[in-house]
Amino acid sequence: MHCPFCRHPDSRVVDSREADEGAAIRRRRSCPECGRRFTTVETAMLVVLKRNGVTEPFSREKVMTGVRKACQGRPVDESDLAQLAQQVEEGIRATGAAEIASDRIGREILTPLRSLDEVAYLRFASVYCAFESLADFEREITGLRAARAAADADLDIELTDLATAGPPGPRGI
Ligand SMILES: [Zn+2]
Repeated sequence: MHCPFCRHPDSRVVDSREADEGAAIRRRRSCPECGRRFTTVETAMLVVLKRNGVTEPFSREKVMTGVRKACQGRPVDESDLAQLAQQVEEGIRATGAAEIASDRIGREILTPLRSLDEVAYLRFASVYCAFESLADFEREITGLRAARAAADADLDIELTDLATAGPPGPRGI
């Protein structure tokens, strides 16, 4: 591949090693023209299988577009969306799959979106999961409240740990 510094059309691989537990190969390259070094990472292409049987490369941009609408008027900015799209891609790659059905991507979006913004999550889930009634919303909101209560309980435990961790020395005075 060409050198990103001087655009020389060739480069030499000087080192090559596995990364991400074998999911990627990292190559250190050197440019014979300007002598500068750069790194390339090679990963398997993540492919999306559409309902009509056509495949296309996974696109973080498309994930962001899909979620952006649900985030309208919410305190969510572009970098939040970019981070969410990255989490979605990493989540799919972590399963070891090289291909994912397009209608499963929505499911991969739900969890990170829930931690990002609960209202945006409800909007997105209502479309993706085809909510049909108030009962569907109620069930989802109950789930959100339960998750939040569980998170608060975790925090309480951490705070208790901090309180009891105190400095070493005689205790129970
Ligand atoms: Zn160069």
